[in-house]
This record gives sequence, C-alpha cells and structure tokens, in this order.
Amino acid sequence: MTPDSAKEARPRILILGGGPTGLYAARVLTQRGHAVTLIEKEERPGGLATSHARSGNWYDLGVHMLHEFDRGIFEDIRDHVMGDERIEVALDAKIRWAGAFYRYPLQFGDMVRGIPPLTLARCVAGLLGTQLWYKIFPRAPKDAEEALIQLYGRPLYEFFFKDFTHRYWGFPTTELDAKFITTKMPRLTAVDVIKKVLGKAGIRDRSVKAVESALSEETLHYSRTGAETMTRRLADTVRAGGGRVLLNREVSGVEIEGGRVRAVTVRDVEHGVEERHECDYVINTVPLPLLVASVRGDAVPAEVVESCGHLKYKPITVHGLLVNKPKCIDGLYIYYRERLFHRVGEPKNAGLRVTPEDHSVLIVETTCEEGDEKWEATPEVRERIMADLEAENIVRRDQIVEWNVFHARHGYPVFRLGFEPHFRRIMDWVGGIANLRTAGRQGAFCYPNMHSAMRQGAKAAEAIEKQMATDTVAGT
Ligand SMILES: Cc1cc2nc3c(=O)[nH]c(=O)nc-3n(C[C@H](O)[C@H](O)[C@H](O)COP(=O)(O)OP(=O)(O)OC[C@H]3O[C@@H](n4cnc5c(N)ncnc54)[C@H](O)[C@@H]3O)c2cc1C
Repeated sequence: MTPDSAKEARPRILILGGGPTGLYAARVLTQRGHAVTLIEKEERPGGLATSHARSGNWYDLGVHMLHEFDRGIFEDIRDHVMGDERIEVALDAKIRWAGAFYRYPLQFGDMVRGIPPLTLARCVAGLLGTQLWYKIFPRAPKDAEEALIQLYGRPLYEFFFKDFTHRYWGFPTTELDAKFITTKMPRLTAVDVIKKVLGKAGIRDRSVKAVESALSEETLHYSRTGAETMTRRLADTVRAGGGRVLLNREVSGVEIEGGRVRAVTVRDVEHGVEERHECDYVINTVPLPLLVASVRGDAVPAEVVESCGHLKYKPITVHGLLVNKPKCIDGLYIYYRERLFHRVGEPKNAGLRVTPEDHSVLIVETTCEEGDEKWEATPEVRERIMADLEAENIVRRDQIVEWNVFHARHGYPVFRLGFEPHFRRIMDWVGGIANLRTAGRQGAFCYPNMHSAMRQGAKAAEAIEKQMATDTVAGT
C-alpha cells in the first residue's frame, strides 16, 4: 500500500461546528493521524469564543479569557497553540450593586459590606438556619428558587438573587430548573461564614485564606486581538496536521441508515450550493435540536422531535463600542444588576490593542429573545444603554465613535423547569447511533467554559477512536 492509498483508507471523520469543542476534537484527532473535516457555518472559526473585526478593531462576543483550571488543556494551548500571541492577565472582575463595587466571584466579606446591618443579621441567620435545616432534612430542590434558598437562605435570596435572576432569564426562578443553580452557583457554606467571621475577629483559618487568594489571584489568558487568537490558531494546527477546516458551510442534512450516520450535507453559505460529505464517524457540536432537525427521512422518532421543542437557548446581543476615552472602567469586566446590560467589559485593560491608541473598546452584553427590541438593538434600547453607561460614569455619548452590534442565537442553554427528561430522551437517541458523539455547549446543552469545552472535545475524540477499535474488531 502506498502512503497515499493508506491515507485514502483512513476512516473519514466529520466534526460539525468550529467552536472550542469542535476545534479541539479536530486537533486531537489530526494529531493522531486521522482524516478530519471540520464544518463551520461562520466565516471565522471560534463560535462564541471568536472576535469580530470592525474598522481595524476586534470585538469579542462577551470578553472571553482562558482559565488555567484544566492544566492539560491550558499547557497544550500555552505551549503549542497560542505561542507568543498569548498574554497573561490577572483576574479583575467586579459586581456593581447598590452604589458600590464588589469582587467577582462574589466574596462573602464583600457582599455583606453592602447590606444594612439588620438585613445582614437576617441574611446570616437565614443562611445558617437554612443549611442546618437541609442538613437534617435533606431534599432535592424542586426549582431554581428552592435551590437558591438552600444555598443562600431565603433573606439573602430575596435580597440579592431573586430579581436579578428573573431579569436575566426573562422568567421567574420558580420556572428555572434547579440544575442551573446546583451546577453553576458557588456554595456559600455556613461553615465558611463562621470561619470568615472568625477571620474578621483576627482568628484566621489558613484554608479560608487559601480559597480567597485562589480566587483573587487567578491568572487568565488573552491576546492583543482578543479571544479570536486561540481559536484561529487551533484551526491552524488542525490544517497543519492535515485536517480540513471548511468555513462558511452550514450543516443542512444528516443521513442516517442502519443506525449510523452515512453522510452530512452542508450548504455553502456564500454560494448557496450544497455539498454532500460521506463519512464514517461524526462529532457534533452544533445545537442538539438543530442536529435532530437536520436528519433526513423518518430516522428520528416523533417523541425525540417533540422533545427538541423543549430545548431552548437564550440569545445574546452584544454592543461593541469604540470610544474616545483611554480607559472607562476599573477592571476587566463589571457585572451590573440594575441596568439594561448585565456586564460591561473593557478588553483593553486585558491588553487588547485598540486603534487609535488613546481610544478604548467596550463590550456591553445583554440577554434577549430573537426579534425583540434588545435583539434588534432599536434606537430606544441604544438610548437606554447610553443613559445607563452615562449614569455609571463609564462613557459619555459624545465620546462614542462607533457602535457595533453582534448577535449569538445560541448564547445560553435555558435550563427551564422540566427540560431534563427531554434532554435525556434526545441524548438516549443520539447514544443509539454508533458512529456519532455529541459534545460542547450546544451539542451537549450545558455550560462549559472554554477549557471544559475543549476537554469535552478531547473526550469525544477519544470516544470516536474507541468506537473505531470496536468497529474494526466487529468488522463493521
Ligand atoms: C458572553 C459569554 C462570555 C463567555 N466568557 C468566557 C470566558 O471568559 N472564558 C471561558 O472560558 N468561557 C467563556 N464563555 C463560554 C464559551 O463561550 C464556551 O465555553 C465555548 O464557546 C463553548 O464552545 P462550543 O464549541 O461548545 O460552542 P460554540 O462556541 O457555540 O460553537 C459552536 C459552533 O457551531 C457552529 N454552528 C452552529 N450551527 C451550525 C451549523 N448548522 N452548521 C455548521 N456550524 C454550525 C457555530 O457557528 C459555532 O462556531 C463565555 C460564553 C458567553 C456566552
């Protein structure tokens, strides 16, 4: 067999979606010598973790920085992917609330500073009482409200979390699944509170100090052109390893026969023509409902199709502003609880190159619904954003040089109450297709950060390799 024919004989692996999950899966598989084709509908790889170029400046879709929590992924990205484009940044995030700034992630000590003494006493008593109660009578929370109350006690829930969570999702916490809280929110244990109170009295516990400093001293990783560097360079490593990265290609059809995906049809977004890619294995990272909707014929049971209607994503609209002001906020990003936007980032403070140099870039994030006034970024919405920016002393309207608007339809998977049986049903169906794996924020309907998304990609790649070995033994 010639080297060329050996290459031809390799199983063909398709990866659907070129965000961090798909790109990393492609990286792992090409490194191991597999024939990989990655399909991405946008003109640039990166998904949510890309940046958009406008008039010589880069705008992230919500400032994206890499964490070091997964050492294996981080060291690979540091040593073999980002090269000298990587810059290190100390985490400096804040929450704006009731006229003051608090560190993010929320520190107990900071949080209580803003609470009037009587309310504070109620909050601490509520927290201690609730945790004691649920220790004696443990029970699974029925919704996000109960989960938040279990975590923080009712007074703190009502004071700090209730309205903000409602505003953010657009529906009350009683309609949000507890899983969102139990998997995303940090636990504030009664033991921690007592330790911190003791700490304030001078009786310091070393473990508490360690937790605090771990949070406040975290190093993040970024670049002069924003989030786009990491995913661009990941795509380069895939190409360098012999893989194909097809951009501007939208998955439009999936053919399933005999319990396996046989081919995927993609539409060339620029030219409108369809291409059919026969395949032996597939890793999906595009939204699960979209994958199911793309399946041709009657290969999907009606109840799975029905379940897809229950998996919703919260869209985001991001306003990218070029402003004639050298520096606007103190920190990398600030969360706002009482404004139209929920977060404002200033990536220049993390090292983003901005032209002209004495200007800055602001990334203003809002959640929305497709087609609503926030999605459309109507003049009224822009006016409210502008008024809020001025009220927060971030920037004045006469300092705005350029106002760009970016959208992501699939910003956040919505863990609406009752979604889980539907999600399970879809995943069980996918699990029955031998040569298909689904992973990532969209593909597995979950909330990874970039490092965990890439870990999911690596795991999906390993699962595909295992399946290949099984198929070889079985002679499939
Ligand atoms: C506002 C915001 C800020 C964030 N900040 C951080 C941060 O600072 N640090 C961090 O670690 N994480 C951050 N994250 C999380 C990070 O964005 C995700 O972990 C990561 O993008 C998930 O990667 P993914 O590949 O699973 O999904 P995505 O990035 O969503 O990628 C999915 C890809 O599939 C493509 N696709 C969809 N449909 C089709 C189709 N029909 N055909 C072909 N392709 C298709 C999309 O274009 C996209 O490229 C943030 C997320 C948000 C929303």
